[in-house]
Amino acid sequence: MFLEGKRALVTGSTSGIGLAIARALHAEGAEVVLSGFGEEAAIAALCDELAARHIPADLSRREGVETLMAGAGAVDILVNNAGMQHVAPVEEFPVEKWDTIIALNLTAAFDACRLAIPHMKSAGWGRIINTASAHSLTASPYKAAYVSAKHGLAGLTKTLALELATFNITANCISPGYVWTELVEKQIPDTMAARGMTRDQVIQDVLLTRQPTRKFVQPSDVAEMAVFLCRDASANITGANISMDGGWTAE
Ligand code: NAD
Repeated sequence: MFLEGKRALVTGSTSGIGLAIARALHAEGAEVVLSGFGEEAAIAALCDELAARHIPADLSRREGVETLMAGAGAVDILVNNAGMQHVAPVEEFPVEKWDTIIALNLTAAFDACRLAIPHMKSAGWGRIINTASAHSLTASPYKAAYVSAKHGLAGLTKTLALELATFNITANCISPGYVWTELVEKQIPDTMAARGMTRDQVIQDVLLTRQPTRKFVQPSDVAEMAVFLCRDASANITGANISMDGGWTAE
């Protein structure tokens, strides 16, 4: 229980990767603050399970991030994980989707860091963990906003690492390949339309074909990496972009 006494805020923790990270940090004794959307009863059950608070806020709006950070209070571990995807060719990409994806996947992380860092500096310890993606290192067609936001998040992370290096605060990205979550499930119909493929073709020939292991990454794998990044042994890991993509970006 090496995280007893630490407060962890995990954005987008009502499902998928963020929920797995919240569970893993709770298991190590951290006080967890949940964020994200979902059914009221399901979120209440998660709060019970994790002895956590949930702060509802739309993080695609600056005021939403400010509400979340004010409600959370002093945060020792900040996991910027909330994200969304939209799949369409650039010339057909809905401009409002572009704006929302950049706001949620990139600007919200900047704002949360901006508001969390003063406490981390005064506490003399902090961990910033950003869920980036293989798409922070490489591109795929039809994902202009997501790829742009995730490359930006990787750049933000490196900048944070340099600014915070002497304050015992680390900033790193974890960059998964495809993880079977709602985010992936939801992009299948649009990918079928954009590429003229069946569902199975999308899974095999678009998603898993990128990963030499031909397997989805598990949310719990990402969560274990997040826990490791909180350990003292990881104090010298900062500014890193840690790939967990079954070899995708090695090609
Ligand atoms: P998910 O859809 O299961 O979870 C997304 C979370 O973000 C949910 O809790 C949701 O409620 C929350 N959220 C969405 N819009 C929000 C908003 N406007 N304000 C506040 N919260 C909002 O998806 P996931 O796959 O677990 O994705 C988590 C992160 O992992 C994302 O940043 C995603 O880009 C990244 N990622 C996912 C994969 C993958 O294959 N699933 C791969 C690489 C990176």
